[in-house]
Amino acid sequence: MTRTDPTTLRTAEQFLESLRDDRTIYYRGERVEDVTTHPVLRHAVEHACLDYQMAEEPEYRELALCDAGYSRYFEIPRSGEDLLARSALIEASTRAGKTLVVLIKEIGTDALFALQAMSAVLGEPYAGRINRFYEHCRDNDLAMCVAQTDVKGDRSLVPSQQPNPDSYLRIVERRSDGIVVRGAKIHTSASVNANEMIVLPTRAMGPDDADYAVAFAIPVATPGLTLVASPYLSTKGKSDIEYPLSAPRKMVETTTIFDDVFVPNERVFMAGEYSAAGELARGFVEFHRFTAISYKLPLVDALVGAALLAARTNGLERAGHVRDKLAQLICYAETLRALTHHAAERAKVVNGVAIPDTMLVNIAKLQFAEGLHKALQFVQDIAGGLLVTYPTFEDLDQPAYGAALKRYLVSASHTSGEDRLRVIHMITDLTTGEYGGYQAVLAIHAEGSIEAEKLTILAQYDRERSLEYARWLAGLEPQTWPSVAVFR
Ligand SMILES: Cc1cc2nc3c(=O)[nH]c(=O)nc-3n(C[C@H](O)[C@H](O)[C@H](O)COP(=O)(O)OP(=O)(O)OC[C@H]3O[C@@H](n4cnc5c(N)ncnc54)[C@H](O)[C@@H]3O)c2cc1C
Repeated sequence: MTRTDPTTLRTAEQFLESLRDDRTIYYRGERVEDVTTHPVLRHAVEHACLDYQMAEEPEYRELALCDAGYSRYFEIPRSGEDLLARSALIEASTRAGKTLVVLIKEIGTDALFALQAMSAVLGEPYAGRINRFYEHCRDNDLAMCVAQTDVKGDRSLVPSQQPNPDSYLRIVERRSDGIVVRGAKIHTSASVNANEMIVLPTRAMGPDDADYAVAFAIPVATPGLTLVASPYLSTKGKSDIEYPLSAPRKMVETTTIFDDVFVPNERVFMAGEYSAAGELARGFVEFHRFTAISYKLPLVDALVGAALLAARTNGLERAGHVRDKLAQLICYAETLRALTHHAAERAKVVNGVAIPDTMLVNIAKLQFAEGLHKALQFVQDIAGGLLVTYPTFEDLDQPAYGAALKRYLVSASHTSGEDRLRVIHMITDLTTGEYGGYQAVLAIHAEGSIEAEKLTILAQYDRERSLEYARWLAGLEPQTWPSVAVFR
């Protein structure tokens, strides 16, 4: 295919303008008039601009655009190669975002692909609406967020059994022109800087849960929709030099309140089809975990690089225990990369959409999540206690003792005091405090909890092939040779 003129692409300025639509956002109890100028939230908006800016950069253009001329995020993967290209784009934008995922198209297209893959199951009129909505987002180069996670109340009960009927988002009225929904979703990332919010069910449901089996999309500025922004990962009072990763950028999660929100029919993708709720929920998660393992790659690379830099700065590259930790960090990072790529290569095509290998995606996500805290420990160990006892650049500039501090901080390989401090600041930001803590919790919970990944792995693994082999080894099978079926 020949690349057409990318007329559908928006500029960062157009994106910013589109967010000035009187959406209802609150930050620490106060109404946010304009998210693009808010002292803290604007850093999330500016971070999101990276997606639009990247597409303008000659070096990234090939990666950021697909052959049809629109943002590659919207390219429905038809093969493992398409998934690899998508993964490379997610990795590259997160790398440019200094290990923080941009997310304004990644998560939304995960939901769009899951909906597309489910079209045959959902049937009409939903299938047509899903396709028109997909084209709307793609052709207008929109930013999207996904509100899937409900507040959930008592985790051991399904929605209809909850003592509080508002523990899950539900349909409270069915009208000829649409539905009215009430409830709340939590942890909704990038909602304050998205154009569209895609809402999906969070779990499998039964006949009594029909009103909770709901999927739809609405513009973020829809009446009745209130975004309560979390202040965690605040940029306030942080200098770029002391917090080189997190001072100028932010991800925002919201508690998202639907106060009897009307959704017109054209935007309703599921309204009561309880038997399909679980499949849609899982379908989204499988795409989203592939996105996750792709956007974790810059983080694990940064951990390896940070350990190497700290070891070099401290003259410890040859120390036995440091080499051991470096080897383990490299294994950690490269295992994740290999699993991510292999999950794409082993994709299966459903309803024309290539779905990455579910078991490998979950193994990758699990090994990342289980290994991150250990990896942080290794980096912190090699870097030393200065991570939390450092003096500041204001001290280095102090006439009375600044010159002395610079001299004392000089370390191996003639690293100057200033450079030593820069290295420390980067590693502190990466591994401790709000940003390191955010990444640590994100690793465990975002895209589903560790237990959810284990359940998926157990469900996906072909037990029979291992059982059969074990039976053969134990002499429980009559044949002389084991089955010729090769383990993939
Ligand atoms: C930074 C961040 C960003 C996120 N972004 C988004 C987003 O953009 N959109 C979105 O929809 N969601 C988002 N999420 C939500 C994420 O998917 C959830 O955090 C995750 O599914 C876990 O749900 P939870 O936080 O409610 O924790 P819980 O479900 O309360 O989990 C806590 C513990 O309870 C266990 N548990 C829960 N239920 C059961 C059960 N029935 N039986 C046994 N054990 C159980 C879990 O395994 C875990 O150990 C985000 C989360 C984070 C942390």
